[in-house]
Amino acid sequence: MVKSRYDIAVVGGGMVGASCALAAAQQGLQVLLVERERPLAEWSAESFDLRVSALTRTSQQLLDQLGAWPLMAGQRITPYRDMCVWEREVLGEVTFHAADLGEPDLGHIVENRVITHALWRLIEQAAHIDVCLGKEIVGLEHSDQASTLAFTDGQHIQASVIVGADGAKSQVRELAGIPCHMQDYQQRAVVATVETQQGNVGTAWQRFMPTGPLALLPVTQHFFSIVWSTTPTQAETLLQMSAEDFNQALTEASQKRCGDLTLRGKRVAFPLRKQTAAAYIKPGVALLGDAAHVIHPLAGQGVNLGFLDVGALIDVLHHARMHHEPLGRLGVLRRYERARKGYNQTVQMAMDGFKQLFGNTNPALYALRNLGLGLTGRIPVLRQQFERMALGQGVELPDFVKR
Ligand SMILES: Cc1cc2nc3c(=O)[nH]c(=O)nc-3n(C[C@H](O)[C@H](O)[C@H](O)COP(=O)(O)OP(=O)(O)OC[C@H]3O[C@@H](n4cnc5c(N)ncnc54)[C@H](O)[C@@H]3O)c2cc1C
Repeated sequence: MVKSRYDIAVVGGGMVGASCALAAAQQGLQVLLVERERPLAEWSAESFDLRVSALTRTSQQLLDQLGAWPLMAGQRITPYRDMCVWEREVLGEVTFHAADLGEPDLGHIVENRVITHALWRLIEQAAHIDVCLGKEIVGLEHSDQASTLAFTDGQHIQASVIVGADGAKSQVRELAGIPCHMQDYQQRAVVATVETQQGNVGTAWQRFMPTGPLALLPVTQHFFSIVWSTTPTQAETLLQMSAEDFNQALTEASQKRCGDLTLRGKRVAFPLRKQTAAAYIKPGVALLGDAAHVIHPLAGQGVNLGFLDVGALIDVLHHARMHHEPLGRLGVLRRYERARKGYNQTVQMAMDGFKQLFGNTNPALYALRNLGLGLTGRIPVLRQQFERMALGQGVELPDFVKR
């Protein structure tokens, strides 16, 4: 049953919101989680979720801290030890190895539904979390001391902090009056699951093409999840062409690095855009995950950044409680914004830079890129820097993750 007052009300029970609700409850806070739809709880073992995430070690640590990782590990999660990035020729190629850092892997490829399902199993058993499903929000009033969410059925709930983890089209962001800057990349990401007879050996692949990057992420020994970012026109063609033509186009685009590829199931395209909320906070309100920032999926960082947001907010709320400060006070939430906004924007800018550098057909830039990839592969310091980034280690970690 939903009460009328909480410490924290999290709107959005996707990967970021669900982990925030769970982390807050683990700190002893009274939590309300508001979600439109209960996530999928069952699926056939042979099916694949079209949406997968490349999780960094840091995200793994956070999910482990929450108790979700052991539940996920019983499902299909695939470690990758190497990542090969290339453009056209062998010269313009670099492979990153977990072994260089003495690590067992660079990260894991996990279907999004596996992550969400594990988090929700824990949420449904948690003592301090109430779940409000299927209700629409119509109003938000916010202040330092208490904020109020109003629902279409006339119900009101109060919380010290309302967290907007309700994705790119965040209603919380809108109701809080926080502007959001959006830049359309004029690209679509075509996602699909494909099979190969040539077994993969724990390598994730990414080819940069002038139209956009193509990622092949291993989900089992013989299956890859692909994210093919390209122009809207080519994306439409890829969606409409026959499965045979698609197989041929994909096998050619991947230069047979993973053998002959065969489509298994649907193809779906997502529009790609960058979004940045002008502020992550207002008195009594904090935005997390895609509600605060959306980035190009080319380096698979979106949800990883969202998990770091969760860790940072939980640190800040924990500190505030220890010092008897109101959780929704602007000065308190400002610490969260300071911890995350600059870093997230730097990563967004880096993705823009990559996209522009590799999306340019100028021969001089092509030579520079090949040189850059070649040098990155050959200079140990540069290599290790990139390998650390893949592990999610290039940033000050929230205490919640380090515990
Ligand atoms: C093609 C593609 C590939 C990607 N690959 C990767 C990758 O490899 N690694 C990575 O880190 N990131 C990746 N990303 C990014 C990643 O998917 C997103 O960053 C992540 O899903 C954001 O999670 P979120 O919980 O913030 O938002 P969402 O996943 O959008 O969840 C929002 C939740 O809020 C709920 N909701 C919305 N509005 C309301 C409301 N008014 N009331 C109640 N509930 C509401 C929704 O139902 C949903 O459950 C990829 C993105 C794309 C498009």
